[in-house]
Amino acid sequence: MSRRTQSDRVQRVAPSVERLGDGMVNFYLVDHPDGLVLVDAGLPAHLGQLRDHLASSGRSLRDIRAVLLTHGHLDHTGLVVPVQQAGADIWIHEADAAILTDGPRSSMRHAKPERSLLPYLLRRPAAISGPLHMARMGGFTGKPVHGAYSFRSDQPLDEVPGRPQPVAQPGHTKGSVAYHFPALGVLFTGDALVTREDMIGRTGPSLVSRGFTHDSAAALASLDRLAELPPALLLPGHGPAFADGPQEAAAQARNAGRH
Ligand SMILES: [Zn+2]
Ligand SMILES: [Zn+2]
Repeated sequence: MSRRTQSDRVQRVAPSVERLGDGMVNFYLVDHPDGLVLVDAGLPAHLGQLRDHLASSGRSLRDIRAVLLTHGHLDHTGLVVPVQQAGADIWIHEADAAILTDGPRSSMRHAKPERSLLPYLLRRPAAISGPLHMARMGGFTGKPVHGAYSFRSDQPLDEVPGRPQPVAQPGHTKGSVAYHFPALGVLFTGDALVTREDMIGRTGPSLVSRGFTHDSAAALASLDRLAELPPALLLPGHGPAFADGPQEAAAQARNAGRH
């Protein structure tokens, strides 16, 4: 569990933002003067990495004020329970809130993917590494979460350090959102737009494959809203940061199409 590799290293990706996770799954720590914010919450086995990283600067889970979830999938919610128990508020769009309360496996019910994974695996057997990684990192052992705060509008979240603005991105799941921190110039896109897609072996801005996406036509349409946002560094749920801005990212993802 504690085996660390190069890709498990915490990396500063913007002046106040660090990327945690591993080569396959990202989550982020925003160090705002008003308190720490976690954007997404990785997989259960990332707990040691998060704890060690906080301890290296004299902090602990108790210093995290809020967790912003981009959606309810299990590779983004793995640490919600321990971080909530340490005192953080949990935020999620109301359309994905039931995935949290019903537990990680309920996303098959609440956000059933459009396609089976089988054709992807037959075409590209290496794609099995994604689901295997999630399983190995405890993804399916996550517990139901109660007491999260949900929102339905794109109003800035005044209670959260940095006053992030949620930007609804329905498609990947019904309640997918991006979070824009205007003062930091960063935009967390979750799985609404990623830069690494392991099911098809693609790098660069794209939608997540239909094997993990509830409504890819809606996901494609949601890119229009992303494209309207001001220039920002895009920080996705999977893959490296994208520096050329939301408009260019959306254009490239549209070009890559639904897959
Ligand atoms: Zn997802
Ligand atoms: Zn994901």
